[in-house]
Amino acid sequence: MDKNFQEKFTQITKFKPPLYKQRHQFVKDLVEKYKPKKVADLGCADCRLLWMLKFCSCIEVLAGLDICANVMKEKMHTLSPLPVDYLQPSERSLTITLHHGSVAHKDPCMLGFDLVTCIELIEHLEEPDLKKFPEVVFGFMAPSIVVISTPNSEFNPLLPGVMLYRHPDHKFEWNQAQFQSWALETARCYDYSVEFTGVGHPPTGMEKAGFCTQIGVFIRKYPQTGESVQSEKPTEAVYKTVFKAVYPSLKDEKYLQNAVISEVIFTAQIIKHRLMSKHEEYGNDPERKSKFQPSMDCFSDYLGNLVVEKNMEPFLSGNEVYIPLATIFSFPKVNRLCGTFEKLCKLIAGKVTLSSDGSAVMFSIECENEDD
Ligand code: SAH
Repeated sequence: MDKNFQEKFTQITKFKPPLYKQRHQFVKDLVEKYKPKKVADLGCADCRLLWMLKFCSCIEVLAGLDICANVMKEKMHTLSPLPVDYLQPSERSLTITLHHGSVAHKDPCMLGFDLVTCIELIEHLEEPDLKKFPEVVFGFMAPSIVVISTPNSEFNPLLPGVMLYRHPDHKFEWNQAQFQSWALETARCYDYSVEFTGVGHPPTGMEKAGFCTQIGVFIRKYPQTGESVQSEKPTEAVYKTVFKAVYPSLKDEKYLQNAVISEVIFTAQIIKHRLMSKHEEYGNDPERKSKFQPSMDCFSDYLGNLVVEKNMEPFLSGNEVYIPLATIFSFPKVNRLCGTFEKLCKLIAGKVTLSSDGSAVMFSIECENEDD
């Protein structure tokens, strides 16, 4: 074999990163560009793309569909929340669901998605299913964006060992003209526009072969109104749900409350420590101690630009130290979590020890010393 050709050959057969990763990265880039909230991956196989997408912070609903339940089940546990997700719940909500079923059938659980991805799926469909596919995806699901990728058969001669198709389960592989005419006709029928691109560049001098994987990005031309979508859609469920994970989120009051309580106690402790260390500084000198007036000065370095009002000053009384809730609320993290002072009061009610009028967090100094 000619040395030049051999070099090109090795270069293209070893795509870096691997081609499946390039396809998934293509989808991820699209998600980052269009920021869809609800994404469905059809023919999701071992859920790799879904796993990658769960880290995209714009996504709140992720769904996978595959005709083979076993392949989905293999790695579906990777879609479950981790301990860290419970320790630090995210601000966004995220639900991931896997369905067992065929893209040739309509199911209401596939309605309302912004982006639908079909990565290396269509070439696995038998002719009758391929015929039904556009009506299900573009007519019924009708998301704003559909991404379809499929092998480009013109690239096959550049791949070693490919005789007819790249995979034994492929029912066909289209050249660029075949894919583009199918895609343009589908787009025309369902009022979408389509743009063609791909991943897996051909080697220099062989540009005519096109990308190894050809991709069509379909964008719906007209927005759908909620009522028109739902009213005429069937409601009978035909898919079987095989997995569902609801991630802990600060949108859920239960997790928000935990996060606020921890942050309030943490903030109050910091303020208290500053106050106490200042107090101890004065403590060895009885004369100075009698003059000790805890004020915001003792931790002003920490509080930065905090607006200081008289009723925001922490104070000591007997064996208790009081940290006004107004002070705690002015800390950015507490403020952001709660939104309003009323919400802060509501969330910590009964969970944090407060002064009798409920305006300050109360700590016992003795307890603190025992701990030390
Ligand atoms: N999208 C995956 C894998 C594609 S392989 C990736 O990016 O790597 C094609 C997948 O489509 C297989 O898992 C196969 O089980 C599934 N599939 C085949 N026919 C299907 C159908 N009619 N409905 C749904 N999924 C189907």
